[in-house]
Amino acid sequence: MNVEKQSELERDARKMLEFRNVKLIDIAELVFYLQAQYHDDLTMDVCLHNVNRVLSKREVQHAVLTGIELDILAEKGLLSEPLQDIIHRDEGLYGIDEVIALSIVNVYGSIGFTSYGFIDKQKPGILSRLNDHSNGEVHTFLDDIVGAIAAAASSRLAHAIVGDLEEENQE
Ligand code: MG
Repeated sequence: MNVEKQSELERDARKMLEFRNVKLIDIAELVFYLQAQYHDDLTMDVCLHNVNRVLSKREVQHAVLTGIELDILAEKGLLSEPLQDIIHRDEGLYGIDEVIALSIVNVYGSIGFTSYGFIDKQKPGILSRLNDHSNGEVHTFLDDIVGAIAAAASSRLAHAIVGDLEEENQE
């Protein structure tokens, strides 16, 4: 990936993920989990490449920055009530974390919806760590954002393999 081509916004979004201890390889593992059964020769490199492409999208960067900011503010107790309590407790009926995630799932078409729902239920790999509420960390938004990036990357990968991605020709 050409680092010089990254915008400042993209660098900030990547830094935020790193700051919250989410490695791109963790997200690539989710993509592998979702796609390995459909492609015999799938490699982690290909999964990682697709994660990187998803992160180059502005709407994804905005979702990452917004969601993680709210998680951090809730962790520090800095939000107003009732939002502070709702986000800190990861209240099940809140649902806005999923709405922000859907803005990511959308970027590579509807296959992403199915994958997002599936890993949200299964919680493989890093998603189970992010859903562990016992350590005082708040990841109400981040778990959905990570799942959504993986789902969008899976969708992109599936489209790229059949050759129907225009932007792939521009790389
Ligand atoms: Mg959540």
